[in-house]
Amino acid sequence: SLADKLQQTFKKLRGRGKLSEGDVADALKEVRLALLEADVNFKVVKDLIAKIKERAIGQEVLESLTPAQHVIKIVNEELANLMGGTQSRIVIASKPPTVVMLVGLQGAGKTTTAGKLANHLKRQGKRPLLVAGDIYRPAAIKQLQVLGEQLDIPVFTLGDKERPVDIAKKAVEQALSMARDIIIIDTAGRLHINEELMQELKSIKQTVRPHEILLVVDAMTGQDAVTVAEAFNNDLGIDGIILTKLDGDARGGAALSVKAVTGKPIKFAGMGEKLDALEPFHPDRMASRILGMGDVLSLIEKAESNLSLEKAQELQKKLRKEEFTLNDFLDQIEQVRKLGPLDQILGMLPGMGKIKQLQGMDFDEKEIKHIIAIIRSMTAKERRDPSIINGSRRKRIALGSGTRVQDVNRLLKQFSEAKKMMKRLQEMQKSGKKGGGFK
Ligand code: GDP
Ligand code: MG
Repeated sequence: SLADKLQQTFKKLRGRGKLSEGDVADALKEVRLALLEADVNFKVVKDLIAKIKERAIGQEVLESLTPAQHVIKIVNEELANLMGGTQSRIVIASKPPTVVMLVGLQGAGKTTTAGKLANHLKRQGKRPLLVAGDIYRPAAIKQLQVLGEQLDIPVFTLGDKERPVDIAKKAVEQALSMARDIIIIDTAGRLHINEELMQELKSIKQTVRPHEILLVVDAMTGQDAVTVAEAFNNDLGIDGIILTKLDGDARGGAALSVKAVTGKPIKFAGMGEKLDALEPFHPDRMASRILGMGDVLSLIEKAESNLSLEKAQELQKKLRKEEFTLNDFLDQIEQVRKLGPLDQILGMLPGMGKIKQLQGMDFDEKEIKHIIAIIRSMTAKERRDPSIINGSRRKRIALGSGTRVQDVNRLLKQFSEAKKMMKRLQEMQKSGKKGGGFK
């Protein structure tokens, strides 16, 4: 039968001892797309893929992994390596004060990050001093002062009449008399890099000789972040990077490119507007995020061994013919439940982390029971064609299942999400494992 044939194909795939060129090429096709989609610089992707190919082909496949999973594992490691491998820290001067200078374009998050960094260091027992070095933006000094007040950290300012280089110099002189052991200089940005900005930053650098010049870049700007980082590194010279706004829908590809292109490590990541939303940067975590595919392959693998092939085939057929109904959804949920905790299963799907947040789709056991109850309260006709479920039907279903109308609404939304998701999975299976999908 077809099912037998498929099972044999999988056995063959699993039984392989070494990664073949074909295995690697298949897996890397998807990786390449994922990276480009995550906004990783084209050249960086090209170099990386070449490197991974070279490293992967001929490697012994770990017993617990399929060839494709093994390739993904190598990709993850290489991505983390590219971003510096391990976490890097701020260099603390042997003789205080340590001078940290934040640079970057307007709106990148310098002033906010100055506050966050001061907060972070204060929690580590340091005594930071914030320095208001942006004298051009009307409210810049005030902005820093407000942050300082919130954090109970002093802010050094000479108003907007003195040159930033003099402000920085006097701040360093005063730090010790104020018993501050680390000073964080907030500088002015511009909309674009220009000579005037660079000259100002260079003169501060030459005068106060910072221990750390940290470039603040906005992760949301994607490829532009790379251009900016390259320019600042070439012109001014930087020691590290702080990537802000990673809490938004920045795909994070910039993180990878920025390190690859400048050779300078990312030291912190900004994860929100609040003053505690700064985290030390972890390359390995970022690698998984950039890959953005969760652990698709292991999910597929798990599904293969648990779902009966016949059933899966049937579903695939229905999906293709757009006949996937709430009955099938119910079936599917009960099948998937056998695979393990749903959170974990969903986490393995690409992009699901995000979708879960957006749709409030945090399935738990209680919710699963609700879902099952709701579907069971529907008529056969409703299960076949949810589009007929209007307001009064929703009310009836909610009553019948002991849930609320908004639960019914949510389920219907989840159903349509699941439908889309399964289509995606199906497409992935097709392109990811030649002969491995349920055809
Ligand atoms: P500057 O011009 O470089 O000093 O940038 P600001 O510090 O004034 O920040 C510009 C905007 O970005 C402000 O609205 C900040 O609240 C926001 N911002 C900074 N860092 C982050 C971050 O990590 N996440 C989010 N969501 N917003 C941030
Ligand atoms: Mg600012």
